[in-house]
Amino acid sequence: MLEKNLARTKIIATLGPSCGRETRMKEMVRAGVDAFRFNMSHGDEETRRSWVAMAKKVRNSVKRPVSMICDLRGPRIRLGIWDNELVLQKGEEVVLKSGKTMGRDGAIPVDYSAIVKDLRVGHRILLRDGRAELKVLRKAKGRVHCSVVRPTILCSNQGVNLPDSKVSAPALSAKDRKDLRFAVEMGMDWIALSFVRSAADIKTLRKVINKLGSKIPIIAKIEHPEAVRNLKEILQVSDAVMVARGDLAVEMGHEVVPTIQKNIVRKAIESSTSVIVATQMLESMMDSPQPTRAEVSDVANAVVDGVDAVMLSGETAVGNHSLEACRVMHRIMDRTESELFIDSWRLRPGVNPDCLSGNTIAMATVNAAVYAAHQAGAKMILAYTESGRTAALVASFRTRIPVVSLTSREKTYHRMALLWGVRPGLIPTPRSTRGRNRAAAKMLAKRSYLKSKDLLVALTGSFQVSGSTRTMQLMRLEDLG
Ligand code: PEP
Repeated sequence: MLEKNLARTKIIATLGPSCGRETRMKEMVRAGVDAFRFNMSHGDEETRRSWVAMAKKVRNSVKRPVSMICDLRGPRIRLGIWDNELVLQKGEEVVLKSGKTMGRDGAIPVDYSAIVKDLRVGHRILLRDGRAELKVLRKAKGRVHCSVVRPTILCSNQGVNLPDSKVSAPALSAKDRKDLRFAVEMGMDWIALSFVRSAADIKTLRKVINKLGSKIPIIAKIEHPEAVRNLKEILQVSDAVMVARGDLAVEMGHEVVPTIQKNIVRKAIESSTSVIVATQMLESMMDSPQPTRAEVSDVANAVVDGVDAVMLSGETAVGNHSLEACRVMHRIMDRTESELFIDSWRLRPGVNPDCLSGNTIAMATVNAAVYAAHQAGAKMILAYTESGRTAALVASFRTRIPVVSLTSREKTYHRMALLWGVRPGLIPTPRSTRGRNRAAAKMLAKRSYLKSKDLLVALTGSFQVSGSTRTMQLMRLEDLG
């Protein structure tokens, strides 16, 4: 028997003023939240520090793994800062410039140094999540002259999308590098990067993380047309991907998002890369205590497609019903998952060699373990893991058999909270195989997961060596301890 109130699909909640207090965060975790997202595009460091302290306190007191995700702004472009709202009329000519503050000539500042260089005549500039559109008329003397195609009221710091331009900004800005130092110092469990365009962006990020002496896994946010084109290569080098539907819809059009989402989810699962679906999942709950039918269907569809996690953004960060949104999300997942496991729903055939750089032996072992567990009627797959990678490989089979993944690394324990169906457990650092098995038996018995005669399949590798899984063993719980 596994714990009640835990779904296989995981929930990420974005922190913000509506929920950034300890009591609320604790309630959210109790309601089923598995990870908190720190959105580095908003807020200040002092507040974030206090939220990290609260998240750590909450996960200790609730005794559940909870991931902390640091979401870097990346090459996201924003408007500069000014005081009053700007009303843009249809057909009006407006002028843009690079910079943080309004020009003396009234040019609207865009906080991106290559804005003039990257734009060409005829290119579109989308503002306010695509609600407003400008078209470039001409460029002159460090200014871009545009006509207003779709009017709006503009406020400072709003997002800017350039769907027709090849944005030349580097993957990581000076702010991202500073935020990364913060993330490492705070012990964040995952780093998400916005506006990834290619595998090279992820490699750059990984180098910087490693230079800081860390191995935090990376989530590539897929929200730019170039990332959609380069998906295969991005999957090969990322630990997870996020279908960031907000900017994806702005960049590529609303109507293409559902099929792109399904494609990304399928390819990610095939390549054993974790996958998250994000944005506007329960958007109406920002104001209303109940979701719309369409939102419920959207969440349920993501669950049926087998995503590792679904994400709440504004709903928890600034919405009026932050806790209820988590509860509703959990209820939808619970109900949908109860119908999933028909005909070995998603048990995968074998190995996709394209996507398994360096993991072929581990994957072959996991493949055999999952099939053996099904054939022998095992009650559980038990994976020992150092980095969490073995747990992610098992999770990618989306098997109906419960998966418990044990580690003696606290970081790995919290990271695994994001993986589909994985119940992480923390055991003391073992000195021998026997010691490790005893610790596992103790934990399984304590949590009443299994009875002593129950069969399980255990996956093991070498001690302290990540990626070394090469042994699977069928045994009864009583043989473990
Ligand atoms: C998105 O654009 O959908 C997204 C998740 O990114 P952000 O919340 O950073 O805008």
